[in-house]
Amino acid sequence: MIQENLAQVQQTIHEACALANRANDAVTLVAVTKTVDAKVTESLIRLGQLHCAENRVDKFLAKKEALQAYPEVRWHFIGNLQRRKVKDVINEIDYFHALDSLRLADEIQKRAEKVIKCFVEVNVSGEESKHGISPEEVEHFIRSLAEHTQIQVIGLMTMAPFESTEQEQREIFKKLHLIQKQIANLKFKHAPCLELSMGMSNDYPIAISQGATYVRVGTALFR
Ligand SMILES: *Cc1c(COP(=O)(O)O)cnc(C)c1O
Repeated sequence: MIQENLAQVQQTIHEACALANRANDAVTLVAVTKTVDAKVTESLIRLGQLHCAENRVDKFLAKKEALQAYPEVRWHFIGNLQRRKVKDVINEIDYFHALDSLRLADEIQKRAEKVIKCFVEVNVSGEESKHGISPEEVEHFIRSLAEHTQIQVIGLMTMAPFESTEQEQREIFKKLHLIQKQIANLKFKHAPCLELSMGMSNDYPIAISQGATYVRVGTALFR
């Protein structure tokens, strides 16, 4: 049941916040609705869950169209985005979680009609299959975005490897938090970088313990 699942996830977030001495509202739940249809997504919205995320352009556009009656929804795009699809999607979203190349940034700059809140995706674990830029390159990459007036780097995003231990997850999230603080200390106007998008169904309590401000949860809401 979605209602119970949502309550359970919210409860787990509150408990993780309490354990970390953080306020409940320090963490935003982003519901990853990529595996469910517009109807199920609508039932979640009607329960008050207004941050939703998708990772496929065509499915997202169809869903947003179907849910036009809910302009209050904040849409997050969390998948890797091909440059040729930027123009279709960038003005339909509020947050983009997977900025990981200058060429993509250039295309967003060219196509966006408003300032897009972006997370720079970082490949902390070093897994070859993962998207994202390496930790060593984050500062240089963010510096290179200063002239991209349509991009606001609000934070960093990462994913822990699918089969990692809690200890490994903790290390990865801790490292992203460290990088985030270093960038925030630079006080870039174009990159305040105060947010951390990390944590999925199997590791969001750990991510919250390490400072996550946005958790992206799918499976735990829809099982
Ligand atoms: C699918 C997905 C999620 C949600 O994963 P769950 O394990 O279903 O919670 C989070 N982030 C990204 C980038 C995803 O693709």
